[in-house]
Amino acid sequence: MSTLHDVGEFGLIARIAKMAASAPHVIEGIGDDCAVLRFNTHTLLVSCDLSIEGVHFLPGTPPEAIGWKSAASSLSDIAAMGGAPSFVLVSLACPPDCEVAYIERVYDGLLDALAQSGAVLVGGDTSRSPAGLMLDVTSIGEVVGGRCLTRKGARPGDRLVTTGHLGLSAAGLHALENGHEAPALVHAHYEPTPRVSEGQWLASRTEVHAMIDISDGLAQDAGHLADAGRLGVDIARASVPLDPGLAAYSEVHACDPYAFMLGGGEDYELAFAVDEAACDDVLAAFRREFHIPVSVVGVFNDTWHGVRVDGEPLSSGGFDHFKQDETTTGNP
Ligand code: ADP
Ligand code: MG
Repeated sequence: MSTLHDVGEFGLIARIAKMAASAPHVIEGIGDDCAVLRFNTHTLLVSCDLSIEGVHFLPGTPPEAIGWKSAASSLSDIAAMGGAPSFVLVSLACPPDCEVAYIERVYDGLLDALAQSGAVLVGGDTSRSPAGLMLDVTSIGEVVGGRCLTRKGARPGDRLVTTGHLGLSAAGLHALENGHEAPALVHAHYEPTPRVSEGQWLASRTEVHAMIDISDGLAQDAGHLADAGRLGVDIARASVPLDPGLAAYSEVHACDPYAFMLGGGEDYELAFAVDEAACDDVLAAFRREFHIPVSVVGVFNDTWHGVRVDGEPLSSGGFDHFKQDETTTGNP
């Protein structure tokens, strides 16, 4: 009998997807960042994300950060399709001895994240939990400008491009777990910014062919883009921009910053495939619009499948809920 540890998170999802029936009006079902649903004249985007104490966040995390991050991770899936988030529902489970003021602080953080993305809380569900806090945030958004980006669509020769700096959240978690002082990295771990405006702008550019948000690590999420397009992607390590704060932290604590940047998740930056010939123009226009880094970090090809870093095949390098050891605090 195989266990979830054997098949892994993605093996389980693939099995569930085979069991699920398709239906009219379902443009994208299981397998992308959001379900894409035709609803009268609108195209809806829907995604949910779980946050569980001891799995997604450490016990002792400031409650505002728990709320912010659980909302951000869900909103980021709308951003990944280039959509506009509108409505959010929250299912909450907590032990009965939990202080009311603590839960109110969780909601302060959650509502701050929603306000920043223009979404409103419209419902949810509440239950006791046997231990620890659990939140499940469902985001509903819509496609703007008639076009959304899915994970599928990268073409051979397309450039793999990322927004922002990667690895900060994973390094922040490392700092928390090891009792190191690193306020900027811890902040990146607690309050990631979903790239909602950037995602919408990218979806409006037809030279951008596919997109995903980086929740499980660049290597793994770039692999999802490659798999969806039946392509391979080669990441050039040296082209992934190294944040100076992460470089300094890694030096002081003898860590490999590239392990955080390629394998660490939860930065909620965007990774997308751009037409080779248009790439310079698209990136220059992006830089005029937004004041965050945007970097070419790899190339898609149709000669092999999967992910390579500097030409070397990568066996693993991202988060899997069932393959990780039990004490690891990770991402959705
Ligand atoms: P993300 O990291 O973008 O949140 P996931 O890896 O969690 O995406 O999920 C990948 C896809 O699988 C999504 O389409 C999601 O809706 C679907 N999925 C995940 N878990 C389940 C489940 N238990 N039942 C049905 N679909 C699921
Ligand atoms: Mg996602």
